[in-house]
Amino acid sequence: MALIVQKYGGTSVGSVKRIEAVADKVKEWRDRGNRMVVVVSAMSGETNRIVALAKEIDPNPTPRELDVAMATGEQVTIALLTIALEKRGVPARSYTGPQVQILTDSSHNKARILDIDAQRVRDDLDKDHVIVVAGFQGTDEHGNITTLGRGGSDTSAVAIAAAIDADECQIYTDVDGVYTTDPRVVPNARRMDRITFEEMLEMSSLGSKVLQIRAVEFAGKYNVPLRVLSSFEEGPGTLITFEEEGMEQPVISGIAFQRDEAKLTVRGVPDEPGVACKILVAISDQNIEVDMIVQNIANDGTTDFTFTVHRNDYQQAMAALEKIGKELGARETIGDSEIVKVSLVGVGMRSHAGIASQMFKALAKEGVNIQMISTSEIKISVIIDEKYLELAVRALHDSFELDAEPEVH
Ligand code: ASP
Ligand code: MG
Repeated sequence: MALIVQKYGGTSVGSVKRIEAVADKVKEWRDRGNRMVVVVSAMSGETNRIVALAKEIDPNPTPRELDVAMATGEQVTIALLTIALEKRGVPARSYTGPQVQILTDSSHNKARILDIDAQRVRDDLDKDHVIVVAGFQGTDEHGNITTLGRGGSDTSAVAIAAAIDADECQIYTDVDGVYTTDPRVVPNARRMDRITFEEMLEMSSLGSKVLQIRAVEFAGKYNVPLRVLSSFEEGPGTLITFEEEGMEQPVISGIAFQRDEAKLTVRGVPDEPGVACKILVAISDQNIEVDMIVQNIANDGTTDFTFTVHRNDYQQAMAALEKIGKELGARETIGDSEIVKVSLVGVGMRSHAGIASQMFKALAKEGVNIQMISTSEIKISVIIDEKYLELAVRALHDSFELDAEPEVH
């Protein structure tokens, strides 16, 4: 008998029919002797609809009230699913986030979970109930309703799984697992049976949107085995877990990419202490996050400095950079908003040489020019012209033979 937390996303509970299908599935798992906690999202489109209503009244609704409104989406789903379970003779109880004491900080619309008092959930599990919990929401210490940021139900599920020490947290979604890369770009992309937390973190932060990144962080921190699987087809999905001792990892697990990048360069700034800091502070003062950073070798006492930002922030970053560039006596400020980032991810990189050269060779063969490079222990990222994105991802997928099952030693 296992203790399982299942999370169903918006599409999986998108209609009454689908909610009934979820109830069938939960009943099946329970009939096999498992104890079940189910976390649900709002029915698909609901959260957007609620946000739009609020914005129709005020384009900038107060975050507190927006949370009160948004949290209702999940409240509808928990009740409907519980009704469907009861109709099937399964004793079940629904709870909102605040009711099961999901305590968060007070940053409305993007709150972080601080603590969960799982006693109520445990008591109900002991009574043999299925517990249905609203994802995406909690309460701060003053009793205000908070939400966890879009896609936050994943994080709710993982946090609850950690709090009750569940055997597995299963995230049911509209894809059947985590792929070596986006199958819309590479049709022979392969579903991975398993991937490590570290790799999944990289894949999520590099633009693979299967799981909310905070959910992955949380699962890694509390060592909650996490499985992504389809609510529409049977299958094992992808298990996200720790690297196993003694098991050889595939060198490269996947290829992630980020389409919405932009790059900015300030040329001919003085090569002296404090300049990089001044430039980056000017950008962060605008609340803009900087991604990759490259500074060239100095020439004539001056240097060039290039960095990337999200494309939405390009105009604002450019304005800030032009201003600080003038103050620093820069030669010119230039930019390009038609670039993308492509990254190879794999924990096996740590113990294998030659990955970067194989990557650059594959790109060169296709005539793809690399504009910037950055590396970490388990990833290599390049910035390239956006028109080469598909070509580059396919070439790398081929070169590293990611369509083939990795050998397990
Ligand atoms: N309903 C929320 C959203 O649409 C949370 C979630 O689905 O995870 O973002
Ligand atoms: Mg979601």
